[in-house]
Amino acid sequence: MTQRTVYVNGDYVAEQDAKVSVFDRGFLFADGVYEVCSVLEGKLIDFPGHMRRLKRSAGELEMGLPWDDDALLTIHRELTRRNALEEGMVYLQLTRGSAGDRDFHYPGADTPPTLVLFTQAKSLVDSRSGREGIRVATQPDWRWARRDIKTVQLLYPAMAKMAATAAGADDAWMVEDGLVTEGASNNAWMLTHDGTLVTRELSHAILPGITRTVVLELAQALSLRVEERPFSVEEAQGARECFVTSASSFVTPVIAIDDVPVAGGRPGEVARKLREAYIEESRRRAV
Ligand code: PMP
Repeated sequence: MTQRTVYVNGDYVAEQDAKVSVFDRGFLFADGVYEVCSVLEGKLIDFPGHMRRLKRSAGELEMGLPWDDDALLTIHRELTRRNALEEGMVYLQLTRGSAGDRDFHYPGADTPPTLVLFTQAKSLVDSRSGREGIRVATQPDWRWARRDIKTVQLLYPAMAKMAATAAGADDAWMVEDGLVTEGASNNAWMLTHDGTLVTRELSHAILPGITRTVVLELAQALSLRVEERPFSVEEAQGARECFVTSASSFVTPVIAIDDVPVAGGRPGEVARKLREAYIEESRRRAV
């Protein structure tokens, strides 16, 4: 990969020169939040939604965010331009910064936060998982109880993905009390045989996906019945279709859950339609 330009606390620097303190609370305590915005044709997808959620995440943790949407949009655009990014993602991380030592207590409110952004080039529209679907393996949801906040505590999702890969799957679906919470890095959906689209309702148990919100709107526009409620692994295995949504995977069909084929082991028609509609709508609304 050619060398990237990375944004760190006001500066655009070569990636090997991008540095933060070893005392940064993001490093020591996972005291940080993040967002991932996709880029298509050099433009940002669902940018206002991602910034709204960033503000909410920071607010829930009493973390300062001394940049407004315009300033953050300028940084996203400048980084996209400097890296000539046509398709891929912009990753943003905000941490509570460094008080110069390790201390569980939050530092004073005058401690500057750390803001880092970098780009990742990736083919998103034309992807194998989008075309062929993915196989998921279930894992217990052993994350903390505030999954609605998009923190950088991603060790458990990484463990769940590793376990799913070891089981021969592409990704993990997490399960609590017999019910699917969400994917390791996406929201989980199923379509019942009577044509009702089901995804878990928002609560502290799952991340409020930005893609999830747009797909709910698109489903309504396509006259699909929608229910926001939890569902079990068995119900999903017997569903007409299953899929996942996220900023970088859009709508991706799920073709097997714990080796049980879903929808005959092929991507479903509704998932395909929603994926196309999401990409079209995203291109239209990109900034
Ligand atoms: N749930 C989890 C746990 C995630 O990590 C993600 C990806 N950020 C999502 C859902 C999907 O959210 P979005 O559509 O905003 O990418």
